[in-house]
Amino acid sequence: MGFFSWDCKGCDESIKAPHGIPKQMAWQNECVATNGENTIKGEYDGYGTVGGIDIADVGDSYAFYHRRCWDKPGDFIFDKPSQPSNDQGYFYDTVENELNLVREVVLNIAPNAKFGKFVDGKFVDEKRE
Ligand SMILES: [Zn+2]
Repeated sequence: MGFFSWDCKGCDESIKAPHGIPKQMAWQNECVATNGENTIKGEYDGYGTVGGIDIADVGDSYAFYHRRCWDKPGDFIFDKPSQPSNDQGYFYDTVENELNLVREVVLNIAPNAKFGKFVDGKFVDEKRE
């Protein structure tokens, strides 16, 4: 079984797995899961474990929030569980991620390919990761 996740009830974005997460999304890995009785806080591992506690089997009965969304002012009352995420907490719809995929493909085809961008008409190399 691959990655799976749930949508944050604060912002509707998925709780993200930590693997290869783009920097600007790193905060979406820290989450809070609550079923009204138990509240668990911590990092999500992408496979149903929050803060070291495995809730894969019962996750569908929990409401999930990103830590940042949970910490916003206001009281949260558990009403209903989160939706399972369409993106499985892993497939990011960002330009940066698309570019990284393109890089990987290009590096496989042409290992010496240069990456960079034009700044004021000059080609500037970008470091390879
Ligand atoms: Zn959120």
